[in-house]
Formats: sequence, C-alpha cells, structure tokens
Amino acid sequence: MSSPPEPTRTRPPFQRSYLNRQAVAVVRTLQEEGYETYLVGGCVRDLLLGTRPKDFDIATAAKPEKVRSLFRRSRMIGRRFQIVHVHHGREVFEVSTFRAAPPKQDGSHVKIIRNDNVYGSSFEDANRRDFTVNGLFLDPVAGEIVDWVGGMQDVQDRVLHSIGDPEIRFREDPVRILRLIKFMRRLDLAPGEAEIVAAERHAKDLTHAAPARLAEEIFRLLATGQAEGVFEDMQALKILRYVLPELRSWLRQSDDNREAFSKRLAALDEMTANGLCADYDFHLAVLFGVRAEQEFDPQQRRMKRKEYPQIAAAILSEFQQRARLPRTAVACATNILLAQLRLDPPDHISASRRQSWNPEALMAQAWFPLALSYLKLRLKADGRGSELWDEWHQRYQVFGQSKA
Ligand code: ATP
Ligand code: MG
Repeated sequence: MSSPPEPTRTRPPFQRSYLNRQAVAVVRTLQEEGYETYLVGGCVRDLLLGTRPKDFDIATAAKPEKVRSLFRRSRMIGRRFQIVHVHHGREVFEVSTFRAAPPKQDGSHVKIIRNDNVYGSSFEDANRRDFTVNGLFLDPVAGEIVDWVGGMQDVQDRVLHSIGDPEIRFREDPVRILRLIKFMRRLDLAPGEAEIVAAERHAKDLTHAAPARLAEEIFRLLATGQAEGVFEDMQALKILRYVLPELRSWLRQSDDNREAFSKRLAALDEMTANGLCADYDFHLAVLFGVRAEQEFDPQQRRMKRKEYPQIAAAILSEFQQRARLPRTAVACATNILLAQLRLDPPDHISASRRQSWNPEALMAQAWFPLALSYLKLRLKADGRGSELWDEWHQRYQVFGQSKA
C-alpha cells in the first residue's frame, strides 16, 4: 500500500472551557503509552463550530484489550466491533481503535456496507467517516487539529460535504442521507450540491438500510429542535415514503392532516428548545398522535371506548415492527395518547364518566410525566394556552408531596 498523504495540522482557536478535562486525561494516558490518540467525530466538529459538545469520543491506535488494561474502570462493549467504555470521574467515554474503510467501491456496483470491523491507521479511520466536518481529529494535549479530509475548510465555510463521492457514500450506507438532514438542520450547515442530488437519487436505498438504525436516526431527527424543518426536507428530498410510508400516506390524505402535524412538530421544537428531554416513547406518540386522536373521535368513526387501546396500538405497531422497536415503546406511547382522553376529555365523553375517573391512579403511573408533557405539546400546537396543563401540573406536585 502506498503511504498516506500528510494531513494538514493547524491550531485553530476554540472555546477551551468546552473541552472535557477527563476526556483529555484519557487521551493523555494513551499518548503517554505511545499510542496515537485523538478526540474525534461530533465533539471536534462542535468545538470548532463554537457549540458545547454533548459527548467526547476518542479514537486510538491502541487495541481494545490494551485500552481495557490501561483503565481500571473500563469495560468492553459491542460484539461485532469492540469498543471500550472508559469511566473517568463521573463521565464515560467511548474509546475505539482506528478502523479502516471497507474495500473501495468503484461506483458501478456499490454494495451496502455491513462489515466495517477491520483495524486501520488514523488516516484510514478519518476516511471511513461520513462528512468532512465529522472526519477531523483533535489532539487536545498539543492543541492541534489533524485534518486528512479537508474538514477545516468546510467548517469555515459551514458546508456539509461527504468524504469522497456522495453517490458512493450514500449508496454504501443510506443512513448517511438522514444524517445529512440532521446536520443541515441542527448545525445550520449548507449541504453541497452534489450531496443533495445524491441524497434524492438514492433515497430509495433507505429501504435496504437496517431498520433499527433508521429508527434511531429518525428519533434523533425529532430531537434536533428542528423537527418541523427536518420533515420539510424529508418531503422535499422524497425520503418520507421510504422511511415512514404509513405517516406519509396519512399526511397526503388532507391539508388538515399536514397542518395539524406541522403544528405538533413546531410545538415539539419549542419544547425541545426549552429543555424537554424526551426519548423515543414520547417521539413515537408525537409521530402518530394526531392520527390516533382522529380515530378516537366518534364523529370520525363509530367505535367503543374499550377499542381505543387496540386502535392506538395498531397505528403504532406498523412502525414498531418494521423498526424493531421494543414492544414497551408502543405500550408507553399508547398510554401517553390514551391518558389525553382523561387529562383533556373531549366533548363526547359524558360527565358521569368523567366523574368516575380517579386522577390518583393516573398520576401514579410511571409514564404520567410524559403524558403531561404531551398535553402541553397538544395545547401549544392548538394555541389553547397552558391553564389546563398548569392545573394538572399543580395537582401532580401535590400528589408527589403526599407520596413523599
Ligand atoms: P451527534 O452530535 O448527533 O452525536 P456525531 O457526529 O457525534 O453527531 P455519532 O452518530 O455520534 O454522530 O457518530 C460519531 C462519529 O462517527 C461521526 O462524527 C462520524 O465521524 C462517524 N459516523 C457515524 N455514523 C457514520 C456513518 N453512518 N458513516 C460513516 N461515519 C459515521
Ligand atoms: Mg456523537
């Protein structure tokens, strides 16, 4: 193999207080043992873009067993590709050994990558990554950025370019198309023209991606705080039909559906910006909530109330089964949706029925806080003011105190 080109080394300014000291200590230990080691991926990108990274990943020339032996509080995770979780202070860092890209594909016959577990050099490790801004290495001890992929220029220009030809990179791993949208929206980076063309052209390849990975990226997209824009992009790039076909057909049924859904996403974004910390149970309820509520409405369909749980579960299950989400996620999302009928009873629920409900039994459920957040989201989306939420919130606090 020919020797790799020299990387560009620079010392760009960045907010040093955003650097995690424990992560730097882990890097230093590995370097002192003689192993080339860097901070990598999203944390380097975020530092250079001036935002506080949420986690710090480390890549090293040391093999997993070596890393494991150097840190007492560490453990090996992952079967297919081993990485080491190193606990330092109160934090955990993911330490992975440099990996090589799978064999080069020539563009005429690109296969999906399912096996990328071959160790490699730092140069190879940078080149197997998705976008140039995600392929930068930071040596936090020397304060130096090591750039094999032209990422520094793209950080400065605030653009998203694939490492290599996007046609090939999106075909070998279509999940990168969703990641493109995520970074465009969350970091406000402009996509390259070739990236947009390739994303649209290979959107249908998303049907071949591992469903669990797709679902993970969809939930991450919902948590960006830019979910409304993300869905616009997914529609513009004709991606929705491949990742959420059931949602797409429902959206296409009417303008009202589209408008109601967009309002929910806008409310979600507002709540995310205000610190909502939701997991995929909640996001699942957001994705399919309006549709379920329509079905609960007796004006739309004749059905008995005891059928509601099955109706909700049926709507959620299509996606859950395809995405291989745990069944508990559907159970929790269903509970969030059904709880709304009690938190905010629709007109068709009779006064006597309302009086028979016991709010304590509802508030005692582990998922109640999520149901309450969901009520807030609905009220916001419908422009109804927060009085009803305030009432329940207060009641819940009193309930909590009585239990303490
Ligand atoms: P986030 O802030 O959303 O966590 P991130 O860039 O850290 O963004 P991760 O999913 O945590 O994203 O992945 C860490 C790094 O691994 C990325 O920065 C990128 O270098 C690499 N990576 C992740 N997914 C892919 C992929 N599908 N193809 C190639 N490289 C990837
Ligand atoms: Mg990350």
